[in-house]
Amino acid sequence: MQDFQQEREQALAKTALALMGELGVAPTPDNFELFYTYASGSSLSLGQTIDEIISARRPFTSDVLDRLRQTCLSSARTTQALDNASQQASATLSAVLEKLEIAGRDAGDYGRTLSRASGELGGQRSPAELRTFVDTLIAATHTMENRTATLEAELQRSSQQVSMLKSQLDDVRKESLTDGLTAIANRKAFDTELLAAVAEAHETNDALALLMLDIDNFKKFNDTWGHQTGDQVLRLVAQCMSENVKGRDTVARFGGEEFAIVLRRTSLDNAVTIADQIRSYVESKRLVKKSSGDVLGTITISIGAARLWPDDTPASLVQRADECLYRAKRTGRNRVVCEADIAAPQIDAA
Ligand code: GH3
Ligand code: MG
Ligand code: MG
Repeated sequence: MQDFQQEREQALAKTALALMGELGVAPTPDNFELFYTYASGSSLSLGQTIDEIISARRPFTSDVLDRLRQTCLSSARTTQALDNASQQASATLSAVLEKLEIAGRDAGDYGRTLSRASGELGGQRSPAELRTFVDTLIAATHTMENRTATLEAELQRSSQQVSMLKSQLDDVRKESLTDGLTAIANRKAFDTELLAAVAEAHETNDALALLMLDIDNFKKFNDTWGHQTGDQVLRLVAQCMSENVKGRDTVARFGGEEFAIVLRRTSLDNAVTIADQIRSYVESKRLVKKSSGDVLGTITISIGAARLWPDDTPASLVQRADECLYRAKRTGRNRVVCEADIAAPQIDAA
């Protein structure tokens, strides 16, 4: 088993290195991890993305490799961490079960000793015989006491281990709902939150608003300053959004350079006010490249705002906010458009 594992690892390492050589990828440890994971086939998204790049004959530049690491490896690592934690949890639980089984057997032995003694006590016994019985009982009781104390200590240790695993699992769960680049909620967390928020608003008749945000002319920014500087901008926008909302609101990276904010218990008017605060806050930031001191100028964002209607689903709400966002793009960018700005009888009719 061990040998087989080692052989497979060696074969994967060889394949990874050969592929890196063919594609002109520098043999750094980081790149090796990426191509080893690709060769192992353990990450579907990494496999698909690398295959696409190879078949389009696009070069594996350091930007491309960085992005692959960020988008594909973090989820592979999460899966690995979950696997490890669940393996540990099941090992701990089997150990506890084994201890309980032994404890059960010990208690059975003790019970049999007691009933044998009580049976024997029935007849006429000399004081010396009685003394022997009592000694036997005392010894059996001591043994049982010791075993119970050992078991308690072991169970205590196991329960500490289980709570440690629980907190590790909580960390992993949190990581799996967080966007690695910007540290805000990721798409999966957004989908879950929007589903819950829509269900709650339909039930309580509370207001609910959704903002969709998109960075203006971001492709040009990336082309001019490079992806890494672009990534800093994504972090900055995430931070600007987070600073302008309350704790119950969910700020998420919807994908690429698009973001979304779920505003529970918020009217469309208030959502537009928040959106405009975020828009002007982003615009007010003067960007400077830390490494070189280059002045990068400013960036702007466009925002679409929609509110929930009684017949809305999460998808129809997202679609309307998206339509508003694209209207904001078409009418000049760096602006907020809400559904009330778009004359649509089927919306106003509800
Ligand atoms: P518009 O104002 O119409 O939105 O123009 P745009 O250039 O922002 O839109 P487009 O959809 O043409 O390009 C989006 C760009 O966002 C393309 C891609 O380079 C960039 N982008 C997407 N995800 C990331 C990322 O994770 N990091 C960086 N640096 N750039 C990204
Ligand atoms: Mg854009
Ligand atoms: Mg976009």
